[in-house]
Amino acid sequence: MNADVDCSTAKCIALTFDDGPGPDTGRLLDILQSENVPATFFVLGDQAEKYPATVRREYAEGHEVGNHTWDHKDLSTLSAPAVQEEIKRGADAIAATGIPRPTLVRPPYGAVNDTVRTYAGYPFVMWRVDPLDWKYPNAARVTDQIVSHAAPGRIVLSHDIHKTTIDAMPSVIQQLKQQGYTFVTVSTLMKGVGLQNGQSYFTRPAGMTGMGVVPEQSRSQSQGQSQSPEGSQSSPSTIPSTSGTPTGSTPPTGSAPTDRPRH
Ligand SMILES: [Zn+2]
Repeated sequence: MNADVDCSTAKCIALTFDDGPGPDTGRLLDILQSENVPATFFVLGDQAEKYPATVRREYAEGHEVGNHTWDHKDLSTLSAPAVQEEIKRGADAIAATGIPRPTLVRPPYGAVNDTVRTYAGYPFVMWRVDPLDWKYPNAARVTDQIVSHAAPGRIVLSHDIHKTTIDAMPSVIQQLKQQGYTFVTVSTLMKGVGLQNGQSYFTRPAGMTGMGVVPEQSRSQSQGQSQSPEGSQSSPSTIPSTSGTPTGSTPPTGSAPTDRPRH
């Protein structure tokens, strides 16, 4: 599903869903299937153990399954061996459902530090569009936040454990399709970028997105924001964990990049 799209020329966007699978993930899969939209699911290992058939269905229907760790600990608070164990246990649980071992990691809360970057052994998939769906369980608001902050090459964060998020998706998909977007998995979005272990990615890097589009930099400057280059986060500086703004990303909602505190 859209796996052959070239996001250096096409107007691509990647929907990602964290913290599942949950009891409502199947309804989201039904929506994505009927709209022929691929997405990326960053699955928790302990949830994969509870819902192995849902993980298999995600993969079988053309979605990408990434690793959101075993049980959603803040990796930036852990020792190097504990970081590796959280990631390995998540990957093991996902692979145990019968699908390929994930190649991408989304750290809970987007929290990484030098220890995590050095020892994780995977690229980190962050996000550039955050509707704060865990905080505002309102489908209309989620839709509006995603659609209004969409831009080519961006990664959208949501959570498939919230009914209101799933309720928002038909409208999100319809509006973004009307704007000419092609939905792709994260790996398709990043094809040709050459993801590096220990690096954080918030978008397809600026200058590598669809033709005829305002470059990320000039778009931001025209809005009067100061912003460092997007995409690969190569700065050695420490990314704050649950507060502050990581280098290379300006959260669109004006708040810290937040992943939902787990239920
Ligand atoms: Zn999460």
